[in-house]
Amino acid sequence: MEAIVGDFEGELNELREVFKSGKTRDISWRRSQLHGILSLLKEREGDIFKALNQDLGKHHVEAYRDEIGTVAKSAKHALGNLKKWTSSKRAKLPLSTFPGRAKLVPEPLGVVLILSSWNFPFGLSFEPIIGAIAAGNAIILKPSELAPTCSSVLANIIRDYLDNSAIKVVEGGPYVGEKLLQHRFDKIFYTGGPRVGQSVMTAAAKNLTPVTLELGGKCPAVVDFLSSSWDKKIAVKRIIWGKFGACGGQACIAVDYILTQKKFAPILVELLKKYIKRSYGDNPMESNSLAKIINKKHFSRLKELLDEPHVKSSIVYGGSSNENDLYIEPTILVDPPLDSEIMTEEIFGPLLPIITLEKIEDSIEFIRARPKPLAIYGFTNNEKLQKKMINETSSGSITFNDAIIQYVADTLPFGGVGGSGFGSYHGKFSFENFSHQKAVMVRGYLIDFGFRYPPWNNKKLQLLKSGLRYDYITLVFIKLGLKSKA
Ligand code: NAD
Repeated sequence: MEAIVGDFEGELNELREVFKSGKTRDISWRRSQLHGILSLLKEREGDIFKALNQDLGKHHVEAYRDEIGTVAKSAKHALGNLKKWTSSKRAKLPLSTFPGRAKLVPEPLGVVLILSSWNFPFGLSFEPIIGAIAAGNAIILKPSELAPTCSSVLANIIRDYLDNSAIKVVEGGPYVGEKLLQHRFDKIFYTGGPRVGQSVMTAAAKNLTPVTLELGGKCPAVVDFLSSSWDKKIAVKRIIWGKFGACGGQACIAVDYILTQKKFAPILVELLKKYIKRSYGDNPMESNSLAKIINKKHFSRLKELLDEPHVKSSIVYGGSSNENDLYIEPTILVDPPLDSEIMTEEIFGPLLPIITLEKIEDSIEFIRARPKPLAIYGFTNNEKLQKKMINETSSGSITFNDAIIQYVADTLPFGGVGGSGFGSYHGKFSFENFSHQKAVMVRGYLIDFGFRYPPWNNKKLQLLKSGLRYDYITLVFIKLGLKSKA
């Protein structure tokens, strides 16, 4: 049963008033809130660890790496760059606008709604919040109800450390999300699945509200065994990390499946088994380093993917599970049917299909025949193949010889394309996501060309048509300091 909620009109009015007052535009306010995030991460680290362990079974080292450490890095990056980002930038003008000057002035959008997901509840809430604060907005965050302890900790720490007149947390599930979407916002930033993403866009369209959709999809890893000078061991360790090591495969940029050459698949399977054991021991479900499945519904969904008879027969490692504790063993499958759900739906869990191909180049057509992924990984040093993958596939990002690591680079935009979403954030891209670049132009009265005004005649048309002549004439008039009589 959902908590009883109001219609949020009061909260939204307060946020609108605070935004209107200019408080959130003040650079010192933005700084203080970013410092507040750094303080809460430090001082409430224990609460965050506990919540992530309770909801997702995340080890505190993983929790620190993926959420606290990453968010702290982003907050520091924003603090270090705030002055540069918020300053206006001079823009060049064509001669035809002489005398004039122009600049781009970044302005905040207003009151923004952030709907976040459950798999990285702190990271996926604070990363956009950092961008929204840096850009000077008022904010409503609705965390996911599927990680309830994390949602409650988020609400408490944000209340305790940030300015609640401008940054509010609303807790709840779909009902609360739908209620919020009935209101007008100046931006909606949504992280989650495509079905809800559609509702978000529909609601936003009513008010022409701009939207960013951070969705998911199936992220392939192309493993090229014939690549020269590649370190198989490191590559396999990174693949395991990119599949099972970030929230047990429940990550939007986790490796979803592998594409590799048929004749090398047995070697790859042996290497994967070896390093899965090294990371998680002989009984991975007893390891405290493997995150659990978020809830019974997702557990059953993953079990159903595996239980399909033709899929089951393709399991070469793992496959066991423990429903009480919501653990599924890291599982490797070789060539499950391509029309089975495990190969048509985003897996979002610790199941790793390997699809074998005659030639590694066939991976390009395989990827192109499917929706555009959020990320593609290529384990190859073959520059020709790298180039082909970059030029002939489309995805939010493409990373060679590693997985997931692109997420921490503030200099790279993080976001999808096509079915994996649109809009991007991280680093300066987060600031831009929550800003409008206002074009400002100031003209002088020194020169005024008559040919831009009616009444029209062919002489004016000739002058307008000839851009070169137009600029030339402008120059002449500038030199002579005369006004055009044309
Ligand atoms: P979801 O789509 O169910 O929920 C996401 C958010 O939307 C939550 O806050 C939820 O409460 C809210 N919500 C749910 N129903 C709603 C409704 N009817 N109206 C308004 N709000 C509603 O999340 P999910 O599907 O469980 O998340 C998993 C998906 O998210 C995967 O597809 C994954 O790839 C994707 N994801 C993407 C990223 C990314 O950064 N691109 C990160 C994490 C997850």
